[in-house]
Amino acid sequence: MTEARNLGYPRSVMTSSSPPSCIFCKIVSRTIPARVVFEDGDVVAFHDAHPVAPVHVLVVPRKHVAGVEDVSADESPLLGRVLLAARAVAAALDLSESGYRLVINQGAGAGQSVFHLHCHLLGGRLLAWPPG
Ligand code: AMP
Repeated sequence: MTEARNLGYPRSVMTSSSPPSCIFCKIVSRTIPARVVFEDGDVVAFHDAHPVAPVHVLVVPRKHVAGVEDVSADESPLLGRVLLAARAVAAALDLSESGYRLVINQGAGAGQSVFHLHCHLLGGRLLAWPPG
């Protein structure tokens, strides 16, 4: 799993809930480029533009949800889809044994800068704890 193939998933998923300025909605709809490593009907995973570890991939739901605080009960399965996709990407990138970290920043105070729910997959180096 290096770069994504066209797996036949719909490219156009912009909906009325997709803010026109949302950069991750634009990546999901392929309006702007990204190094996509995985996609299925629910999520897209792509390399972070400013990696902070040798592996730094973002997993986002296709559906626009601003953050964890905005996930409705109906949408809660999306959280599982995001985590399982992150696990699949970690396995494909050989991180299952060495370990990896999954991070979701919720809110500006936690460092969230893009308000489309995303999970950071970090690995490929020793990861200190606690995070800053
Ligand atoms: P956060 O600060 O948790 O909201 O994370 C947002 C992440 O998105 C940051 O790590 C950015 O480097 C990354 N990012 C922003 N724009 C892009 C982009 N166009 N392609 C890939 N990653 C991006």
